[in-house]
Amino acid sequence: MLRKRPVPYKIPVLEAILKRISKKHPERERVSKDLAHRKSGYRGEQNLDYYLRQLSFGYQYIFPGLRLPHSETEFFQIDSLLLTNRFYVTFEAKNVAGSLLVEEHQLQQTINEQTQAFQNPLVQAENQLFHLNNLMKDYLHIQLPHTCFVVMTNPSCIIHFDPSYRHIAAPKMIRPSAIRHKVEHFSRQYPNPVLSTEQLHRLATLLLQLDTPLRHDIFQEFHISKKDILPGLFCNDCKLLTVIRYRGRWICTRCKKENPKAPIEALIDYYYLIGNTITNRELRAFFKLNSISVATKLLVALGLPVSGQKRNRVYHLSLEKLKSLLK
Ligand SMILES: [Zn+2]
Repeated sequence: MLRKRPVPYKIPVLEAILKRISKKHPERERVSKDLAHRKSGYRGEQNLDYYLRQLSFGYQYIFPGLRLPHSETEFFQIDSLLLTNRFYVTFEAKNVAGSLLVEEHQLQQTINEQTQAFQNPLVQAENQLFHLNNLMKDYLHIQLPHTCFVVMTNPSCIIHFDPSYRHIAAPKMIRPSAIRHKVEHFSRQYPNPVLSTEQLHRLATLLLQLDTPLRHDIFQEFHISKKDILPGLFCNDCKLLTVIRYRGRWICTRCKKENPKAPIEALIDYYYLIGNTITNRELRAFFKLNSISVATKLLVALGLPVSGQKRNRVYHLSLEKLKSLLK
């Protein structure tokens, strides 16, 4: 069983922000850099999934991305977990380019003659493994053989190891294509089932229940105020908020093209940036639309669940529903 890796929540939020803050907003560059970074990280994780899909160890679960508690307020994150009835393996995906030097206490990355230091990802991966092992002990009194790998998903990176640390790091910091061989080697050391099918299933269910995806307060992180979010409807050709309602159609005032999906896209932005409910008045303000009746028609046509009566009617935005209308 392999769950589909969800798009990290932050990616569509940052995309919506970039569409709707001024071109001169002081945080714009930071937002676009962070978005590029998240997207490349996500591509690295998808690359990891491609190799994990090829693994087959009988009774197994593969979890792409888990965020689990190690105390009441603190969490640890695992990029991928392979869980079988004999052992489990965690994978940390690192999508870093350039020339890398792995040392016990840091990872040095050099690109264009500039060097930056990061945490040693192997130490991070081992900490996550430690927390996961504790969690299984605490909740289900289960102990399984386990190991972790750091997967260097950027094909262009060149990896060097500090000679005194190489014997520890080199076997565990691997390229994606080495995953199958490495995990099979580990698997051969533990041929006997430790868990019954039922125990394995219970453990998998527990992990899914404890999984708590992170919802950042992106406005706070980037010093962007909700007031900075510009209203209007977005033209996908002009990349501007230039679409208006004209003779019953959604037309860009700049390129004159019709953007029939612009209202749905705007509601998705609204969902990510403002909230999951909207009133007729809020919709008119966000769409820069004057007509109450056009707004009502639009909201009714979407078939969204409603609560409240008449003037106080609130429409509940469902991301799934809105996305299905984009197709
Ligand atoms: Zn246009």
